[in-house]
Amino acid sequence: MEKWLQEAKRKDGVDVLGHFRDEFYIGDGVYYMDGNSLGLMSKRAERSLLDVMDDWKNHGIDGWVKGERPWFYMSEAIGEKMAQLVGAGAHEVLATNSTTNNIHQTVRTLYEPTGERYRIMADDLNFPSDIYALQSVLDDYGYSDGMVKVSSEDGHLLDTERIINMMDESIAIMLLPSVLYRSGQVLEMQKITEASHDKGIIVGFDLCHSIGALPHQLKEWGVDFAVWCTYKHLSGGPGSVAGLYVHERHHHKSVSLKGWFGNNKETQFDMAHDFDRAADISQYQVGTPHIFSMAPLYGALGMFGEAGIGNVREKSLGLTDFMIAMIEDVLAGYDIDIVTPKAYESRGGHILIGHEKAAGINAALKSKGVIPDFRAPGYVRIAPVALYNSFEDVYHAVMILKEIMDDRLYDKFDNRRGVVA
Ligand SMILES: *Cc1c(COP(=O)(O)O)cnc(C)c1O
Repeated sequence: MEKWLQEAKRKDGVDVLGHFRDEFYIGDGVYYMDGNSLGLMSKRAERSLLDVMDDWKNHGIDGWVKGERPWFYMSEAIGEKMAQLVGAGAHEVLATNSTTNNIHQTVRTLYEPTGERYRIMADDLNFPSDIYALQSVLDDYGYSDGMVKVSSEDGHLLDTERIINMMDESIAIMLLPSVLYRSGQVLEMQKITEASHDKGIIVGFDLCHSIGALPHQLKEWGVDFAVWCTYKHLSGGPGSVAGLYVHERHHHKSVSLKGWFGNNKETQFDMAHDFDRAADISQYQVGTPHIFSMAPLYGALGMFGEAGIGNVREKSLGLTDFMIAMIEDVLAGYDIDIVTPKAYESRGGHILIGHEKAAGINAALKSKGVIPDFRAPGYVRIAPVALYNSFEDVYHAVMILKEIMDDRLYDKFDNRRGVVA
């Protein structure tokens, strides 16, 4: 064990992102590994929220155009910061609404069903909300049976060739995750995009589990649209406003869900009844933006800008490498199954492990300060996050897991999930 601790300390000693840890609120004795569900709060995020509250205090209504961060332009300003993380132009990225709302908005806007081409393609492993949104679009258009879902052979991973083989001229639009929320597999976004365009299909990705964990080149790959939440790896806070990208080639199309914040800013306050849509991504907004749920992103995104998403990815892979190697060594023979692919190009920012007592293991870990999350029926997701987790955190998390397995501490807890798991 000693060698692993030495190795962790050595890696922490040369970690170029190590200093960011002090910028986060981390409880004593807590090994927080749930940044892929809700990222920790940083001092910078707190500061930027307080600053925006001060603007309200000091400027009242004039806060819309006054202060350092005028609210009227905040959705675009934060979009511009996120554009670097997804590899798109500033005019193609926006902070608005929630991920689910943004799926409704983008899919409804870009979906153009015809008699032969009307199906929507998704997959069997995606997050339920994405599927509900897609199905509701189909229902509204009278194509309730129009969903095509790529299945998974093992229940964890999706095969690129299988995805590509399912594409045909009956499919109008498709939405897939960039990183699967359970297994952590990264899909081959560029290859999938090229294949879908060969078949005339509009393609979008849900980046909820990759934004802030790995770089993207959406524009270069030609991706039509993407959505993501900002409270996971980006640490924007609970319910922080989501992100949206639509390739500029689609900006000429009028959005489906129209609202006054999607209007051209110059004429918005003319209060005319004719919608004068904004020329760029801005038109994808609907109503008044949730300013306090966006404000923490100023601080949080500032750290990503300084750290560089390339460095974040490198450290993230280092952390999961270390965790996998330690589990394979220290926990060999404990029936712990590592589900997440090991190849770098297929591994996202978290690790999924399987065990029949997973719910009990998850509860036991939490009782000892290690915070992962449980996914039914028998899995635990663990996300060591580059900006605030150290290699030593990973060492302690794995050692605590070993103690739980050795002493069968999982048997002291119910082997079922809590209300929020
Ligand atoms: C977290 C997550 C969501 C959440 O959507 P909200 O609208 O923010 O509640 C949706 N889809 C995926 C794939 C997610 O991981």
